[in-house]
Amino acid sequence: LIQLAMPLNFMGMIYREIKQALIDIDDMFLILHRNPEIADRPDAKSLIPQGGTVEFRDVRFAYDPARPILRGVSFTVPAGKTVAIVGPSGAGKSTLSRLLFRFYEPQAGRILIDNQDIAAVTQASLRAAIGMVPQDTVLFNDTIGYNIRYGCWDATDAQVREAASLAQIDRFVSGLPEGYDTPVGERGLKLSGGEKQRVAIARTILKGPPILVLDEATSALDSFTEREIQDALDTISQNRTTLVIAHRLSTVVNADAILVLDKGVIVERGTHGELLEAGGVYAALWSRQREADAALAVLQGVDGER
Ligand code: ADP
Ligand code: MG
Repeated sequence: LIQLAMPLNFMGMIYREIKQALIDIDDMFLILHRNPEIADRPDAKSLIPQGGTVEFRDVRFAYDPARPILRGVSFTVPAGKTVAIVGPSGAGKSTLSRLLFRFYEPQAGRILIDNQDIAAVTQASLRAAIGMVPQDTVLFNDTIGYNIRYGCWDATDAQVREAASLAQIDRFVSGLPEGYDTPVGERGLKLSGGEKQRVAIARTILKGPPILVLDEATSALDSFTEREIQDALDTISQNRTTLVIAHRLSTVVNADAILVLDKGVIVERGTHGELLEAGGVYAALWSRQREADAALAVLQGVDGER
């Protein structure tokens, strides 16, 4: 009996350790992208956010030294403002968000939050200050409530519902027979991409970080879902420093500044109005998207008449 009990006991310990490790990691995004090569400096301090100004100073980066991805990128997102990054696929947009999370380190240049170099602070304090709504949310095989509460274990049921409501998912969840106790994921209810994204938004609202990073999905959500998600995103980005990798025209139009990234450099920057007037890369992107939207509207119109 002792022989059997020992390994069982041992396995219980391992299980608890793994479970704790998962809880210590902020979310699935971190689990997927964690880079063991990045370590806290021995003298690392806690980041102390004060408003959440984000600054990239002449950042250069390559995953593979032979192929530079960012070739000297500088910009500032002032506290509470929204900056949108647009540009062709492969330009390095998502790489900027990975560097801000310190999944990778720049080969040159610096990234600062409220004038504190992110390389000099603990990763835990850095990631506590940033909320990420990724392109592709991965949910845990647990209940919807668990997935929203994730990382904010002391949140009350009322706070979870409030966050879900702001994320425009409360009505959907409340309508399910088991409500917030509905299991989701592989062994439970399958949620659509838009629903999963709204769960991630609710989780971020609950976390309430001073800085937000939104990597918008390129996949064409139906326009109703898109509008609901846009409303939810507008709600959380109010009064928070927001860096948005933008595909939706609505986000871009309302941003305080737009950066156009192409082949690792910022080729244009300004407000929507300024960039349209300049008649450059952004203006061309804009009119192309407008045409695509018009074409889509015609298709949907045809569809609706059937
Ligand atoms: P964007 O978000 O603008 O589409 P990314 O920042 O994701 O672009 O990627 C920029 C470039 O870096 C792409 O050419 C991509 O193939 C490359 N890349 C992205 N992630 C990695 C990685 N982990 N290892 C090597 N190359 C990568
Ligand atoms: Mg990307």
